[in-house]
Amino acid sequence: MNSEIRVTVWNEFRHEKTDEAVKAVYPKGMHEVIAGFLNTRPGIKARTATLDEPDHGLNDEVLSQTDVLMWWGHVAHHEVSDSVVDKIHKRVLDGMGLIVLHSAHFSKIFRRLMGTTCDLKWREMGENERLWVLEPGHPIAQGLGEYIDIPRVEMYGERFDIPAPDTLVFVSWYPGGEIFRSGCCYHRGRGKVFYFRPGHETFPIFYQPEVQQVLENAVRWAAPVQGPVPTFGYWKPIEDLSRG
Ligand code: ZN
Repeated sequence: MNSEIRVTVWNEFRHEKTDEAVKAVYPKGMHEVIAGFLNTRPGIKARTATLDEPDHGLNDEVLSQTDVLMWWGHVAHHEVSDSVVDKIHKRVLDGMGLIVLHSAHFSKIFRRLMGTTCDLKWREMGENERLWVLEPGHPIAQGLGEYIDIPRVEMYGERFDIPAPDTLVFVSWYPGGEIFRSGCCYHRGRGKVFYFRPGHETFPIFYQPEVQQVLENAVRWAAPVQGPVPTFGYWKPIEDLSRG
């Protein structure tokens, strides 16, 4: 395994080109902000990829050199080609980490990995959100306080139609009375998947130090492990069974 964790930050990168309010917050795109801070962290090397590049910036070479893929999408999930989704799915089952951000709950790859609709309630009023750390001993909680307060967010509320996470690291509270499972860990094949709720495009959430800490921690948690490659199918006994 490489000593550095190779991250590809994928962004749909449409809002930032067309919406002045988003452009004001993320003039070069969310992917540049995320990759930018990740590249200041030891042992992490981040690159970017976006929807409108050939193969969405995810050709076979890029995918094979990606240890952890981070995914942000919103208005163009349907434009992501099924063949690229197939390749990402295979890479996850083979051990690549996948970190799914905010509105990417509806991305093709997340819905395929979950097998459910991944639907939820939402409201955009700019209220605050308090994410409580449920698992203080989890690697993704490294360096955090008991909760993270994000001053202005889009609300996502339960029910969030996902399978029960293997580990639920964060639950969100909102002033409107809703809650949401905001930090969900899954194992799929040899790979790890982390869904993280915050990250609405009109608020500067990816600049917030605690959010950056979560994403850095998630990259380290989701990075591939050099565990055994399982064999399947017919299996000869390891012990001598002939003396039966
Ligand atoms: Zn949003």
